[in-house]
Amino acid sequence: MRFLMILIMGWFAYPLVAQETTPEPDTPTPDIPLVIYGNEPALRNNILITIDDCIDEVLTRQMFEFLVEHDITAVFFPLGSELIEHDPTLWQEIIDAGFEIGYHTRYHNEGMTIPELEEDFAAFQADLRDVLDDPDYTIRYVRPPYGVWDRNWLEWAEANNLVTVRWNLVTRFDLTMAYFEAVLRHENGGGIVLVHPRPTDMNWLENHIDDVMALTTEAGEPYRIVNLTQAFSDDEEAE
Ligand SMILES: [Zn+2]
Repeated sequence: MRFLMILIMGWFAYPLVAQETTPEPDTPTPDIPLVIYGNEPALRNNILITIDDCIDEVLTRQMFEFLVEHDITAVFFPLGSELIEHDPTLWQEIIDAGFEIGYHTRYHNEGMTIPELEEDFAAFQADLRDVLDDPDYTIRYVRPPYGVWDRNWLEWAEANNLVTVRWNLVTRFDLTMAYFEAVLRHENGGGIVLVHPRPTDMNWLENHIDDVMALTTEAGEPYRIVNLTQAFSDDEEAE
């Protein structure tokens, strides 16, 4: 009888314990894979601009304002060392304008161990929350320096439910619209553009943004140039 009681109590207690010890994972946004390359079906009608490092504050602001003028939102991946050096109102304006900020390490170190990544990310997120004066700002998107997505990085990102963002287009001076369009027209379409706030990339944007905005999908629809969460939140495209 005592055995039965314990069994029954155990039965009732189990779901409570299970809930406490294994909370539901806090998925970033439904249907976002943990590594994205730019050719995901949900991205096929989207162009995503990602802005790395952000070493030059003047050019970072110039690039941000240029995109706002064109009604574009994007994702910034500033280094933590630059994040805390620049005027905090820059980052606050960036968030207020509907842009997102992701993690690209504090010092551009590649090949960190998992404990090093844990520590660096925690410090970056704390600094970002400080700069934004928002204790709840949660980073969803991460990108390793130099694109070194090694086993440690991927294991660490997956364990923390962070989305690793790769790219399939770089605004080098020799990036032509023909090449740009060819990438977008891959089987699943969609593009993730890597940009740095430096004069050559700024020039590329100034010279090509009208052409980029004029591109249409094979169905004749204009591409949406939006931040990552917006790109994956569009139900029509996600189907
Ligand atoms: Zn970088």
